[in-house]
Amino acid sequence: MTTSSRVAVVIPGTNKLEVMDVTLPDPGPYQVVVEQQASGVCHSQLHQIHSPRKHPVILGHEATGVVLAIGSEVKHVAVGDDVLVTWVPRSPQPEYRPAAAVTLDLPDGTRATSQNVFTWATTTIADEQYIVKAPPGTPKDLGSIIGCAVMTGAGAVLNSAQVKPGESVAVWGVGGVGLSAIAAARQSGANPIIAVDLDDAKLEFAKRFGATLTVNASKGDAVEGVRALTPGERSTDVGGVDHSFDCIGKSITIKQTIGGARSGWWAERRGGSAYLVGVPTEEVTLDVMPLLIGEKRFIGSLGGSSIPEEDFPKFIEWYQKGEFDLDALITERVKLDDINEIVHELEAGKVAGRAILDLS
Ligand SMILES: [Zn+2]
Repeated sequence: MTTSSRVAVVIPGTNKLEVMDVTLPDPGPYQVVVEQQASGVCHSQLHQIHSPRKHPVILGHEATGVVLAIGSEVKHVAVGDDVLVTWVPRSPQPEYRPAAAVTLDLPDGTRATSQNVFTWATTTIADEQYIVKAPPGTPKDLGSIIGCAVMTGAGAVLNSAQVKPGESVAVWGVGGVGLSAIAAARQSGANPIIAVDLDDAKLEFAKRFGATLTVNASKGDAVEGVRALTPGERSTDVGGVDHSFDCIGKSITIKQTIGGARSGWWAERRGGSAYLVGVPTEEVTLDVMPLLIGEKRFIGSLGGSSIPEEDFPKFIEWYQKGEFDLDALITERVKLDDINEIVHELEAGKVAGRAILDLS
């Protein structure tokens, strides 16, 4: 079987993507070939584009599509199934098996590699670990951001933090990941849910997803802003939330999320937690004394600690009940040929929610 695909390839030395016609390899025993409908364009991929490299790479790690072909050992999906592509293994493996690496032969004779999946392509091939059978009712276009943005933001709240009803939450950065975290905080019964960002329009938009209060960090000290909205019960409390999420990954926001987590009461109640959700873009120097004195926790949340086969149906259920406005989360739709333009817009901070590639 010969499967052709149009694939966006990062050309070494240029930091640019070029869309090429390639022939995909036949699926190995554990691989799945997916004809794609849509793919998200994730902020973390910008770091990949700009990393120095000698060889071409293929990117994108969240998508929707239909199974075209499967390897002999693939049991959980069949040809014709609607699926989601993600970068986190779909479920814990009974026995560890490393995912098969994907490389593509390019027309110029070089080879392109992917980290684990590539979705900036009309058709992809991936290890079955990263292919999730789409829950019934998954929207073919909007579903494309579940495999990274939604799972990372919502998973941080559901899995890493396990937010309980009545607990207070602050979310720094209200792009696709942050808005998904806010939506999950509302589903968890959190109160208040504080959105922190630099732009009033984005903060207003966050209220559609469940933010109950907002702090504009361009107009004052964001930590003081969050503390003022969450005064403690005792005269010694300086305020702060139970769960503080950094969905950006910058040094300043990482420090602010730790500052925004409340301090504990010695011997009585431990402090709040700060979660690193956004991908860090720089080395960070931390004053760790407030963590010690406040008995706070600082926790990494990779991909929202998600188990896609368990978590994805929840997100679709929220969507179907009208409680999670996936439609509003997607603010840009472009064709594969316009990949460089949308990447440029993303870098310039001009994408309010999430951008998707229409691959249909
Ligand atoms: Zn991503």
